[in-house]
Amino acid sequence: SKRHKVTVVGSGNWGSTIAKVVAENTKANPNLFDETVRMWVHEEEVEIPKTSQHYKEGSELCSKPQKLSELVNKFHENVKYLPGITLPSNVVAVTSIEEAVKDSTILIFNLPHQFIRKICVGLQGKIVPFARGISCIKGVEVSEKGVTLLSELIGQTLGIYCGALSGANIASEIAAGKYSETTVAYDPPAMDSRQPTPHGTPGGSPTSSTVDLTITKGEQSKKVQLVPLPSDYPSLNHGNMKRLFHRHYFHVRMVSDVAGVSLGGALKNIVALAAGWVDGLGWGDNAKAAVMRVGILEEVKFGKMFFAGSCKTQTFTEESAGVADVVTSCMGGRNFRCAKMSIERGLTIDEVERRELNGQKLQGTSTAYEVNSFLKGKGLEHEFPLFTAVYNILEGKIKPDQIPDLIEPKIVD
Ligand code: NAD
Ligand code: 13P
Repeated sequence: SKRHKVTVVGSGNWGSTIAKVVAENTKANPNLFDETVRMWVHEEEVEIPKTSQHYKEGSELCSKPQKLSELVNKFHENVKYLPGITLPSNVVAVTSIEEAVKDSTILIFNLPHQFIRKICVGLQGKIVPFARGISCIKGVEVSEKGVTLLSELIGQTLGIYCGALSGANIASEIAAGKYSETTVAYDPPAMDSRQPTPHGTPGGSPTSSTVDLTITKGEQSKKVQLVPLPSDYPSLNHGNMKRLFHRHYFHVRMVSDVAGVSLGGALKNIVALAAGWVDGLGWGDNAKAAVMRVGILEEVKFGKMFFAGSCKTQTFTEESAGVADVVTSCMGGRNFRCAKMSIERGLTIDEVERRELNGQKLQGTSTAYEVNSFLKGKGLEHEFPLFTAVYNILEGKIKPDQIPDLIEPKIVD
């Protein structure tokens, strides 16, 4: 029988880390997966930094910019976005996106959320029609029509089913093989299940059918023609999806709540900005914990209000993609660190991002704007005082030291 080919679309800090994790697993499961993992690289010229394992003072190699993809394939290291980590040799960098996804039946989307729509539109008609996707991206898309989960955006644009992976996952720790947990939400349509027929023969491949992949409540449903996975491929059930991502240092919990997992990953970035600001003010851990508590409550409320029927409260309160991601992001994430530095240095957060992140991207600032534009459109800003305060601070309308008053429950007699 056939094996799944896997492509990681994206090669930043997290994209390169997930490529490493997955490539270790494709090697360990040759009956399920083709060993080679292609990783799409947005090409750029880079200099080898001092943090790279291949930096040599004064060498010719290190004195001029070179193509990132060529460096990845030569040294098995993403010298710009994940320096100091050796990638398995079965991770192959590819710069043509069309070439990267060709014949792949599993597409893992992992790049900053502002680029995903354009990438998906460019991929239309170029992917295997029965491919399945996993989005590792933390963010949402907001348009005049409403808020869209990125797994929905990917699924609807490409006509495939797409789940989500999210958790308390600071990439550098996982890349170094340090223990963490994650949550993979995968709830494929019934046509993907391989139930035996009533006559006892294998189910085989059902025919294509029109499936509604819309999760967002009240969204106009967008039906797509979904093509079933042929029966000569290993099933993509929870077990095999877990085999693709689970490592001894990266523990996967499989769930079905794609909306909860996606929203936990997106909304915690807004909370992390507020935590960074109060820490930057020198207020300490109690202040940060207060912001985290309110942040988790607003995440639950957002899920219940706009993704009712799909989103489970427990995803936010019990899974890595919920509470644990709020905690880790408010301790050491980039959004937290840049917000904290912006107060300490008296700079805008965009300026800190440009100076400190070497091309890595914050997701919290744009998500705060996107979520606010959605809430404002619905006249519901007051229902989410922390999310609204973060937006107003970014806009310069209020100061971070006003956060406590804004999130405090009003006295009711
Ligand atoms: P990153 O912050 O390292 O961003 C840099 C990447 O963006 C590079 O690969 C760069 O080539 C790419 N890029 C720049 N301009 C581009 C363009 N015009 N088109 C396409 N790509 C372009 O990215 P990351 O850390 O891999 O994050 C990807 C997603 O994963 C984000 O949503 C992030 O929130 C999430 N995430 C990150 C971490 C982490 O610790 N880094 C952990 C969990 C989840
Ligand atoms: P930052 O993007 O703020 O670094 O957060 C990383 C993350 O998502 C940790 O789970």
